Formats: sequence, structure tokens, C-alpha cells
Amino acid sequence: MNTKDEKVQEISIHQLAEVLKREKDFLLIDIREKSEIQTGYLKGALFIAPDEILEKVTEMGIDGERPLILYCGFGIKSLDVGRKLKKHGYKNVYTLREGFEGWRAAGYEFSGDAQFSPEQLTRYSRHILLKEIGIEGQRRLIQSKILIVGAGGLGSPSALYLAAAGAGTIGIIDHDVVDLSNLQRQVIHTTDRVGLPKVESARETLKKLNPDVNIITYNERLSKENGLRIFSGYDIVIDGSDNFPTKFLINDLAFFTGIPYVFGGVFQFEGQISLFHPHGGGPCLRCVFPNPPPQGVVPSCSEVGILGVVPGLIGVLQAQECIKVLLGIGDPLIGRFLNFDALRTSFVTFTVKKNSSCSLCGENPTIKKIEESEQFCESRIWIA
Ligand SMILES: [Zn+2]
Repeated sequence: MNTKDEKVQEISIHQLAEVLKREKDFLLIDIREKSEIQTGYLKGALFIAPDEILEKVTEMGIDGERPLILYCGFGIKSLDVGRKLKKHGYKNVYTLREGFEGWRAAGYEFSGDAQFSPEQLTRYSRHILLKEIGIEGQRRLIQSKILIVGAGGLGSPSALYLAAAGAGTIGIIDHDVVDLSNLQRQVIHTTDRVGLPKVESARETLKKLNPDVNIITYNERLSKENGLRIFSGYDIVIDGSDNFPTKFLINDLAFFTGIPYVFGGVFQFEGQISLFHPHGGGPCLRCVFPNPPPQGVVPSCSEVGILGVVPGLIGVLQAQECIKVLLGIGDPLIGRFLNFDALRTSFVTFTVKKNSSCSLCGENPTIKKIEESEQFCESRIWIA
């Protein structure tokens, strides 16, 4: 190997400070000992021990062109490790002259909270590689608290993907038990758990998928009595409910607790999703549907069928919107209502607007506290 090719370029502390401000497409790697990292580290850094670095960057699928910036304590050891990476085909390797101690002495900002374990780095590597997520985004997911109402057709895929994504806490409320007829679409449950509470079955599956996730279960029906107690402390709520009154109750609880509401609904071959967040400038469910359809106009849940993959798709989209909101990336479905038609394989998005005379989030609201509406039953678009 040509020695010139293996030369690692050093960057100064001030250059790194500029790069951190401007660039996004690099990976910053801290190669120090655990005891050193505990005294502080650079925001956004990955922690990889020198003897594991080749294995880790290979596992993470980092391509050879991606700029890698290494730092150690004083800028000596990182040169050795940098040369090793260059020898193995990583072309753009840089090291920090004077290392972390130089950075700290120069008075630049550094972080001091808990870092990722090597297992977490590997588990979440495909997120960390995305510049829109990175180590900071993953940390935000790990710190998030997500409530899912219903461990059924919508709640199953939502919960599975959010647990896989590393959501720190997932709360699940459901008062039902697993029935054989659920298994055609409620993929979080298994045949041997028929008769068990759905929340227990969901916990077991999610823990096997990702033991890091804290699962909180509520084996009860969401009501105006328990709603505020259950909602308090969560960052966002996902609607996996199967009836109109519960959807309106979720809407109102989300409004009064100030959290975004990821709405979902399915019927036969169709699904709907939106993100209601009046505190974020969008409409609420009551802005869009002030007058629910009268009882008896449409068949009830038990009378209509549902293509199993439809809640699968909508539930995954709900998890996606939830992650986007938690990370502050992309354009969330605020002010938009998406309709999915499985028979046509079509996705159509409608604009939905805030209603200034909305009874909940309008200028002169008539709903000032939690009240569960009982005067209507299921409507054709709300059945899960
Ligand atoms: Zn409203």
C-alpha cells in the first residue's frame, strides 16, 4: 500500500467547530475509553473502541467515501486508528489535533449525559447513518414516550415498528383479550395467546423484539375518568381504536394535554390517517368532523369485514408520522388527511383546515373539559 494514501489528515479544533456547524454528512467517532467518555464528549459522536472500529464500521454499512472524523484524548491515538481505517479503504478519514482535551481547553461546548452501549450502536446503526436522524435523533427516540390506544389492527404494526425503532417508552391501553378472529390482522398476538389480555400479549412480543423498550400496559378501557391520568407524561398518542366515541375522546385528551394525535381508521379495503395537532397550528378531529353520522346509518364493527393488510399499512404510516414528529423531520400530516384504497392501490391526500368555530379548539370553545360523547356509534370510516 502506498504510504501517501494512508496519510490521515488532521483538522484543528476550530476547523471541527466550523464543520459541526455547517456539515451533516460526516460521522464523528470518539475512540476513547469509557472512563474518559464519562467526563464529557462531543455532541453527535459515536463511541467505538479502537479494537472494534473496523468491525463496527463494516457492521454499520458505512461506505468508503463517507467522511469520518476521529478523536481521542489528545490527538495521538486517533492517528493510528485513522491509518488503520485508511488501509481498509476508508478514503476520507480525519482526526482531531489535540483531541477532546484540546477541545475542552479551548472552551467549546460538550455533552455530558449517558452514551450509547455498543449493542445499541449496532441495533440502531441504520438510523444513525441517516443524517436526518444520527446519534442525536436516536437519542431523542430513546427518550420519547408514546401512548398507543388499542393493541389491535392499527396498534400492532405501530407498536412493533416503534419498539424496533428504539422508542424509549411505549404505553399501551386495551381492555380486551386476544380472540382467534383477531389474528388475521393483529400481528402482535399469536395463536397460543388466545384468551390472554391483549396488553400482556403485546408486551411479550415487544420485549422479545427490543428488550430496551419500557412497556407500560393499561388493561382498561379508555374513559373520561381515567383519560387524563393515562395521557399525562406522554409526548404523542397513536389512535388504534375501533370506534367513534373513543376517537373523539382521544382527540379531546390530546388537546387538553397538548400532545399531537396520530389519527387512524380503517374500513373494509380503505384506510385513513391524519395528524391532529391544534397546538402545532393544525386542525383537530372536531374541526374536520363536527357532526358525526347518526347512529344506525352504517353497519357496526362486528358486521363488516376488513382486509388484514389495510390496518397493517395504516398502522405503519402512523408509526412513521410519530417518528417524524418526535424528530422534527420532514412534513408531518398536519392539515392533511390521507385516504388509502387497497383495491385501487391509491393514496389520495386532502387538505383539512382548522375551523375557527370548532367546539374544542375554535375561538369560542364550548368544550372546556373532558366529556365522552355517547350519542353516536361507528361510522363507515372509523372501523378497525
Ligand atoms: Zn378543532
